[in-house]
Amino acid sequence: MTPGRTYGDPQEVGFVRVRGAREHNLKDISVDIPRDALVVFTGVSGSGKSSLAFGTLYAEAQRRYLESVSPYARRLFHQLGAPDVDAIEGLPPAVALQQQRGAPTARSSVGSVTTLSNLLRMLYSRAGDYPPGQPIVYAEGFSPNTPEGACPNCHGLGRVYEVTEASMVPDPSLTIRERAIAAWPTAWGGQNQRDILVTLGYDVDRPWRELPQEQRDWILFTDEQPVVQVYPGLTPEETKRALKRKLEPSYMGTFSSARRHVLHTFATSESAAMRKRVQGFMLSTECPVCHGKRLRPEALTVTFAGMDITEFSRLPLKAVSQLLQSHAQGVSTSADRLHPEQAIARQRLAQDLEARLEVLLDLGLGYLSLERATPTLSPGELQRLRLATQLYSHLFGVVYVLDEPSAGLHPADTEALLSALDGLKRAGNSLFVVEHDLDVVRRADWLVDVGPAAGEHGGQILYSGPPAGLRDVDASQTARYLFRDERAGACTPRVPSGWLELRGVTRNNLQALDVRFPLGVLTSVTGVSGSGKSTLVSQVLVETLAARLGHELPAETEDDEHAESRPERLGSPAHLAGDLDRVSRLVRVDQKPIGRTPRSNMATYTGLFDHVRRLFASAPLAKKRRYNAGRFSFNVKGGRCEHCQGEGWVMVELLFLPSVYAPCPVCHGARYNPQTLEVEYAGQNIAGVLGMTVDAAREFFAGEPPVRRALDTLAEVGLGYLRLGQPATELSGGEAQRVKLATELQRTGRGRTVYVLDEPTTGLHPADVERLLRQLGRLVDSGHTVITVEHDLQVVVGSDWVIDLGPGAGDEGGQIVTVGPPTQVARSEVSRTAPYLRRVLG
Ligand code: ADP
Ligand code: ADP
Ligand code: ZN
Ligand code: ZN
Repeated sequence: MTPGRTYGDPQEVGFVRVRGAREHNLKDISVDIPRDALVVFTGVSGSGKSSLAFGTLYAEAQRRYLESVSPYARRLFHQLGAPDVDAIEGLPPAVALQQQRGAPTARSSVGSVTTLSNLLRMLYSRAGDYPPGQPIVYAEGFSPNTPEGACPNCHGLGRVYEVTEASMVPDPSLTIRERAIAAWPTAWGGQNQRDILVTLGYDVDRPWRELPQEQRDWILFTDEQPVVQVYPGLTPEETKRALKRKLEPSYMGTFSSARRHVLHTFATSESAAMRKRVQGFMLSTECPVCHGKRLRPEALTVTFAGMDITEFSRLPLKAVSQLLQSHAQGVSTSADRLHPEQAIARQRLAQDLEARLEVLLDLGLGYLSLERATPTLSPGELQRLRLATQLYSHLFGVVYVLDEPSAGLHPADTEALLSALDGLKRAGNSLFVVEHDLDVVRRADWLVDVGPAAGEHGGQILYSGPPAGLRDVDASQTARYLFRDERAGACTPRVPSGWLELRGVTRNNLQALDVRFPLGVLTSVTGVSGSGKSTLVSQVLVETLAARLGHELPAETEDDEHAESRPERLGSPAHLAGDLDRVSRLVRVDQKPIGRTPRSNMATYTGLFDHVRRLFASAPLAKKRRYNAGRFSFNVKGGRCEHCQGEGWVMVELLFLPSVYAPCPVCHGARYNPQTLEVEYAGQNIAGVLGMTVDAAREFFAGEPPVRRALDTLAEVGLGYLRLGQPATELSGGEAQRVKLATELQRTGRGRTVYVLDEPTTGLHPADVERLLRQLGRLVDSGHTVITVEHDLQVVVGSDWVIDLGPGAGDEGGQIVTVGPPTQVARSEVSRTAPYLRRVLG
């Protein structure tokens, strides 16, 4: 708390006054919130914290800002609707630091998000060491994303792609008709090429390997594009006769060799799926000109501290900071006397970089490198990067609205976060933080507790004031956890039914690590952020076990593209041993979005919408009009609104601003056409059902056991407040993960399963965590194995086994510090988790 200031009197200036807020589930609430303070919004998930902090306060600040800059935006907001609130006074401009929802779009890196790359390029341009006689390289010349900088051979990709006969024709015993040339397009496109070859006189019915090499080479690699008569449906013999008699062809077709098709599609296709498909037929190797460094040779000859800029960008930030220290202090060398301007530039730039790096190190991100691609970061890491960027942008008089900044943080890292927040506050800013972590909640100057429960049963302000005062609020779930004696007696750990062993794990910061996971129990993998937990569990364990069980891993578009670009990091496959016969299935329940467009939602993902559509198809009006279940899908033509193609939203492009979604002007968000909406089941149309919360739907479908069962599991994982049709893109990572968990819970009983979870408590109030623990316990009690990466001490203490990684992050981590039941790990002298466990175990 700021010394000498109390936040007791809302009458004084320096308060944001909200009157009559009704956004989402908020019940016409009025509340006064101090500025220049750390304000934490608490409450169970779905109580309305985000609706107040983001949906009302931030949305209103954003609206005022846009209105002031663009008359067009004003019109748009008329369409979008301003937040539902009577008045807000005293609201400063706001900056939101939200967890990434949905897919990260831009191809960016740690260096570009933090703008540190710009400074580094300046440093290399103006203060780097040049070979004698080489002219200066301008800052853009050090960026692989500019024509001035990109390696001309690989266009700045660092890798070159090529195709070979083997990569495009995986099975040479097939004939062309049997699609020997797998790299050609599927469906019609492939048939077209085959018919062209028939016209050209190639034998499409002989096994590929029996064709003369010269023919094979032409078909696969030629750059020629002959245009010929095509007679689809005719046999080769008939085609020959048709050509001789100069019969009218069905059309003229253009030949494209398999290589041409692959390279062209890869370079120009708008569709990520298409690019991914053809990528499968390409071999990539490091670019021989730049050796994967993506820059022109001139740029790579410039060095600083003996390294070129790419090598420098691959160092951990911690090492960069150390390197820069002496330069920032302006230690002069003999060369400096010759080039005093260069020496001054070097010192200034090094100082500036140093100061900014300091903030990143304080936030516990020193293990990252500038080159690291942002799609490979966790949402929590990305949020902290953005926070750091704000910290050194020296804004003041702004409110920062943050969404669970402690996500992904070990309790030992949370301290650093708190001091960063304190830094922003001292610089004259206000902080509105939605948070569950009790260590952060305790440090608030002011608490706004929303509740008492989720959805319709929440939306009220239970308390607004300094933390101590919450103690007396009986209705508050937060009060129960904030003021209780934290010590939970240790429970008796379950006994493992077997073990899985991973040997020789080498990836990222893990070096030839051996580790054992117990089967039939709940295991938490702990360690500070960057210690290697996700690498071990979500990557190596998942991949190795999936490969052994013969499971396909779901494609992860974004990450794959990046994983692919640095294959040397992947290391050698780990060796899996142990009681493998006791595992028949692997299920990964992660925080990746359940869909990337508003088309997928909870109802479609869990499969419960199939039942619902069948119920609608059985309604009397539907039968009379012969509507089948497909009519009630918004993903196919027929019943949906064609204007928005069933999305309910349309994309609106804004000049100079990111484009936004606005409700469809034809169906007003209903997604269906009027005829479909006339059909009712038990007095509701299909759009009405999608608008129901899970809790409301449980009552509505009480008489329909299959629907009811699916809904019950969703409610059990704490999602009773979500609407069935809530687009996947609006779900937070934690919510998406719980939707997956619920979907899995419905399916249990299919053999012995290993469930792998990555921080399932993100977004969960302690009361929700308790419920989640019971769910996980249920899985374990029915013979399954649960392995989770987790920071939440409630979960760690409730586990049967703990694997603590570390001791530090990056190259200071990656080792097993200690393993055992929680009580045993708590006794460790070296583990950074142990002191926190001791506090809870008492
Ligand atoms: P919290 O932040 O406390 O978890 P939220 O503010 O996200 O809670 O949600 C409060 C209520 O508002 C929930 O019932 C939720 O389903 C609903 N809600 C959230 N986002 C939307 C939305 N975009 N449209 C309609 N209802 C929403
Ligand atoms: P944790 O899950 O404990 O936070 P991670 O497994 O994510 O830790 O990271 C361990 C180390 O590996 C860190 O130094 C991190 O920067 C590095 N790392 C993780 N993923 C990648 C990646 N895709 N590319 C390069 N380095 C990575
Ligand atoms: Zn190159
Ligand atoms: Zn529409």
